[in-house]
Amino acid sequence: MRARSMRHFRATLAIGSALLLAGTPVGAASPQVAAKPVKWSPAAAVDLAAFNKDLVAGKPTMDVAIYVPSNFDPAFNKLSLDRMVDGVRSAKEIYGRVGVQINLVSAKTGAIDPRFLAIQSNEIPRLPDTEYLNSYEASQRYPTAMTDMAKAAFESIVEPARDNARTIYLVALQDVIYPFLELSQGRNWTVKMVRTGGLSFPSYSYHTTIPQRLRGVITITNLSTPNRLRRTIAHELGHKVMNVSHEYKTTGPAFEVFAEGGLMLYGAGEDIPAGVDGRWHLERLLMSPYIYKLDARGKKLWNPDYKEGGHYYDPIYGEKSVKFPGRTSMDPNW
Ligand SMILES: [Zn+2]
Repeated sequence: MRARSMRHFRATLAIGSALLLAGTPVGAASPQVAAKPVKWSPAAAVDLAAFNKDLVAGKPTMDVAIYVPSNFDPAFNKLSLDRMVDGVRSAKEIYGRVGVQINLVSAKTGAIDPRFLAIQSNEIPRLPDTEYLNSYEASQRYPTAMTDMAKAAFESIVEPARDNARTIYLVALQDVIYPFLELSQGRNWTVKMVRTGGLSFPSYSYHTTIPQRLRGVITITNLSTPNRLRRTIAHELGHKVMNVSHEYKTTGPAFEVFAEGGLMLYGAGEDIPAGVDGRWHLERLLMSPYIYKLDARGKKLWNPDYKEGGHYYDPIYGEKSVKFPGRTSMDPNW
């Protein structure tokens, strides 16, 4: 309650000053003010050469970079640099089973703008999903809108580089809050906000709203349990590189699916299935624009890029996508 009234007070203040100045709100509370680029330093404790020593040229590979703020609030203890690296090591094992390598290109620490330790990932959706489109078709028509706050945070965090749009950036933060719509009763929806443990900003959902340079960003906010430490990074990578939601074999995509078997469900599963029965997960992974193979001279031969921003049915996937009807739990006689 105390926190809420403080926040309300601050919001009122911000509106007050905006009115007084009749223009851009100023001060630390405004996410619109561009933040300075973070001064990152390589984490001395992480031996990249040792981590990557088993990589083989010619095999499908993804480049992953880690950013861990050095200025977390003292009470925050949900992850650490070590846990981030351990999570990538688990992912390396899980993807290694299907022949895909993870190249850890950097692990860096530095002080970020404290405004960005907690961010809202996307705007409140304007339209709920109904039965006339499946969730991927709905996202294709109405992509999830990344907030200006999230864009400003990642602009300051992700260092400009040639391969920005082909690199996965695992960004550790304290809180990433995701608003969504949920059917409440009858023909009414309610807005909810979920505190995420990891959020992948997947192309099937954000395809046109995420700046190209930042499209590889994944936020990680909780690696504090054995299951999260083992699976969260691998699972979030899956959203990015398979470009699918929570689905597995006969389980259609949904916001949260608690079941066993697949890496892309909420459970303990680590399977990356193949073929039509596996909803083409492995095939989509191998087609991902985040995947390359090194040629004999050490040059990265990247997979073709998305043709339509990377929605689920992007033409790069050809037949490797599933057509299925939309659904609703609403009474059909509403
Ligand atoms: Zn997920």
